[in-house]
Amino acid sequence: MTSYRELGLVNTKDLFKKAVSGGYAIPAYNFNNMEQMQAIIQACVETKSPVILQVSAGARKYANQNILRNMARGAVEYAHELGYDIPIVLHLDHGDTFEICKDCIETGFSSVMIDGSHLPYEENVALTKRVCEFAHSQKDYVTVEGELGVLAGVEDEVSSEHSSYTEPSEVVDFVSKTKVDSLAISIGTSHGRTKFKPEQCTKDANGILIPPPLRFDILEEIEKQIPGFPIVLHGSSSVPVEYVQMIEKFGGRLADSVGIPEDQLRKAAKSAVCKINIDSDGRLAMTAIIRKVLSEQPEEFDPRKLIGPARDELKKLYAYKNQNVLGSANQA
Ligand SMILES: [Zn+2]
Repeated sequence: MTSYRELGLVNTKDLFKKAVSGGYAIPAYNFNNMEQMQAIIQACVETKSPVILQVSAGARKYANQNILRNMARGAVEYAHELGYDIPIVLHLDHGDTFEICKDCIETGFSSVMIDGSHLPYEENVALTKRVCEFAHSQKDYVTVEGELGVLAGVEDEVSSEHSSYTEPSEVVDFVSKTKVDSLAISIGTSHGRTKFKPEQCTKDANGILIPPPLRFDILEEIEKQIPGFPIVLHGSSSVPVEYVQMIEKFGGRLADSVGIPEDQLRKAAKSAVCKINIDSDGRLAMTAIIRKVLSEQPEEFDPRKLIGPARDELKKLYAYKNQNVLGSANQA
């Protein structure tokens, strides 16, 4: 048994309260290796932003959860060494069983998501309630994120062919029955780098795909039902055209890439949306730089010379997100 407090981590309770009233969102960046963790911490220390380090099922399989947990402890010490103690959350992304959530809670995660969104409604309620009861009864309160509505797209082991928007009439019942601390909703965001099919989009003068807007009407309806309750957006990468073009210039193939425009995320962050998940953009940034280095310096074979510049780019991207998209800069 390890409590997250022993690792120097915090849960999301206070962070979300401040984010909702302050009109910004906390970044939730996925990590599965050292360079990503370093880039996230460098960016968040530099911009004085709180941060949620997010671990998916795929990351646990790839990197081992004990290693990741100790990297989160290292992240706390690293931030301190860089000169500013930002609040750091270690969060399980898309836990799909009670056992996985329990396992993470008992080994030092300060927050977990139980994703029962694919289940029939009453089963989702029962599963989420069970995880909340366990998480909340720990010596150090662990926060729980639930989900209502299904996102489209594929990322790690989470995938769905069809999306369904969150039903605003269900949220009061779900939140009060489960006692969940935050709620992920579906209003048009989507996992992965191809968030919409080309036929769902329009094109601008340069042939760049423009996606349909997020359903802010549903978000507003949900906020009316549960005023001030912390809302989470998954699948909120913007899939920057510059990275896609750089990847393709240096030999990659990423047809039909399209993300969520930054101005829509900025607008969402000003509402009760207080956690925004970003993963694909970081993958694109690192891949773009690694491809560029491999192509321009064919004699290079030191992995640090490939991943190091990718880490620098990732840091730049996340600092930009904190400052210009999420509004979390200077909130730590
Ligand atoms: Zn997700």
